[in-house]
Parts: sequence; structure tokens; C-alpha cells
Amino acid sequence: MSQITKFQCPHCNAPVDVNPEDAIFNCISCGQAFLSDGTEFKNHYILENKFNQKQVQDIIKQFIKKKGFMRGIKGYKITKLEPILMPFWVATSDAYTHYVGFKRYTETKTRTVGSGKNRRTVTESVTVYRPVDQEIREKRADVLLGRRGSSMFGYRKVKQILQSEFSHAVPFNHNRLMSTEKEFDYLSTEISLDAANQLAKTEVFDNHRARAEKACTKVFDCATQITYTGTYFVHTPVWQIEYVFQGETYRVAILGSSGKIIAGEIPVTTRFRLIFLGLTGLFFIGGGVGSYFLGLDYIAPIIIGVVVSIIGFFTLKNVFKPVSVVE
Ligand SMILES: [Zn+2]
Repeated sequence: MSQITKFQCPHCNAPVDVNPEDAIFNCISCGQAFLSDGTEFKNHYILENKFNQKQVQDIIKQFIKKKGFMRGIKGYKITKLEPILMPFWVATSDAYTHYVGFKRYTETKTRTVGSGKNRRTVTESVTVYRPVDQEIREKRADVLLGRRGSSMFGYRKVKQILQSEFSHAVPFNHNRLMSTEKEFDYLSTEISLDAANQLAKTEVFDNHRARAEKACTKVFDCATQITYTGTYFVHTPVWQIEYVFQGETYRVAILGSSGKIIAGEIPVTTRFRLIFLGLTGLFFIGGGVGSYFLGLDYIAPIIIGVVVSIIGFFTLKNVFKPVSVVE
């Protein structure tokens, strides 16, 4: 692998700085994807962004209005609103596994013994060993983040969403990135195509093995075959937002293809704490009064006491968290 640090895009002639660690990088001007040796990478796909800066701002305002209602969040300021393209690998494959083992379980059997006056039914439990010989055959789309040790807010959720929405991805087209005032920031991938296929393979093996183990008490043999049907580099549009409230910074991530909030932090305010403490107090009083009137025996107050303490514990836990994360 040759290491290029300066590159000129053959499509639009824009100069591109390349990080030697990038396995695939993009032209910052036209978005074309290139392998580290400078050849074009064709299997470049995208989930299309459908929201602009103004619409994203409205989504955040709605989110804070709805979630921040009890918290009294007013006078916050959006300090960062950055559209990025998160890089993912999607390895599609036909996976086939054949596994053999046995399943042990207990069965209750009733039978009649004796005759005449001594005739009676007995119930006994019998241990049964049933041989298992099964196949798994499926079309898969395994998704991996293209960056190592990443701390991008909300990327785990994006990965899950991409797994189910990959069929909506379209061949990459820079001109269809709608963001009016702001340009999307292309993130390159440090994980190569080969490494992505290798990681996907491990994921398929582990997944099928786990399923075989779930179906058997003991697995004797488990063999998996994978035929890759295409590995795609998929850019997923995510708006990364930061807002400041009472001196603290909170993060929100919005998926550009659906406008969904992937993850959002909401401050836990003093007002919120007081409301929750009040509610917890009411629960305790309610529980006490309830058990006084209902408590004809001693079991009812104990049950009510336990329930109220559990609810109380969870509401109190909520109160002492510095920030809530909504997903
Ligand atoms: Zn270009």
C-alpha cells in the first residue's frame, strides 16, 4: 500500500489531504471514494439526507420542548450544528450453517399401574435426549463502523438502524446531499475492505454458533459457510448538535435520513429534582395511607411497602443523575 498524503481528485481536480491511516478516503469537494492507493472505490452508497439546517433546528426545539417541559428548560443555546457522514461497512452475504448436537429436557409422564382396586396413576419425570440436526440459511447484512475506537455520539444506534434500513441506501451522489447552508463532513474509514469482510465473517460465525448453542444442550459440530454478495461502504448522514444550558453542554444526534433523534441528552434541573422528590414523597404517603385502610392483615402493608420502595428507589435514582439520555 503506497502512502499518499497529497491527492488530486480526478473528477473535480480538488486537492485532498489524505491521512495515511485511511483505508478509504473521500474527495472533500465531490465526495468520490478512493482506496488508499488512489483507485476509485465503486461500492460507495449513502442513506440520503432529507433535512436541512432549519428543519434540524426545529426538531431539536421540539425535542427540548417536549422532554424539557417538567424540567423548565428555557434559554438554552445551540452552539454546534454539524452534519457529518458516518462511515460504515455493510457486508452482505449468503450464510449457511449446519449443526448437530442434542437437547436434554425433562418430561412429565403419567401412567397407570396396578389393577383392580390397586389401580392408580403415577406421575414421574423422565429425562429425554433428543438429537438435533439443523440448518441455518439466511441472507445477511452485517454492519461495522469504519473507524476504530470511535466516540461519535449515538453511533451504536445508527449502526442498528442501518442494519434494517440498508435496503434504502442508494449509490452515492454528492449533488443529492441536501443541507442548504452547511456542507456535510465526510468521514473516511480506517478499516480496509478485507478487514471489514474478516470482521463480518467473525460476526456471522459467532451469531450462528450462539444460535446453535441456544437450540442444543450440547453442540457436537457446527460448520458455517459464507458467500459474500457484496461489501459496501455506506455513508450515513448524522447531524451532531450541541446546546448549552446553564453553563453545561449537552449533545443530540439526529439521523438525516429520517429526522429521528438517535440519542439526546437532557439536563436534570433543580425543578425536575423537586418534582420527582415530591412525587416520591406522595408515593410513600399514598402507600402508608393505602396500607392503613386496606391492611386488614399484615401482608398487604408489606407488599405495598415493597412496591412503594422500589418505585421510590428508581425515581430517586433519576433525581440524582446529572443528565438523562433519551434514545
Ligand atoms: Zn472530487
